[in-house]
Amino acid sequence: MSVCPHCDSADFTKYGTTGCGQQRYKCKSCERTFNSLAGTPLARMRRQDKWHQYSEEMWLTTKIRQVA
Ligand SMILES: [Zn+2]
Repeated sequence: MSVCPHCDSADFTKYGTTGCGQQRYKCKSCERTFNSLAGTPLARMRRQDKWHQYSEEMWLTTKIRQVA
C-alpha cells in the first residue's frame, strides 16, 4: 500500500479498521477511505464497493433515524 487507489495520492492517514479488523486508510486528497486490500487481486472486486458503500449508508441512515 503506497498510494490511494482512488486518486493515486500518497497523502493518506490511518483511519481505524474495517469490520473485519483490517487496517483502513483515509486519503487526504480525495477524502475517500480504502483498506489494505486495495492493490491486491481482491481489489478487482472493487465494482462491488459502490453497492457496499450504499448499503452501509442506508444502514447508518436507518440507525440514525431510530436514535432520533
Ligand atoms: Zn485519494
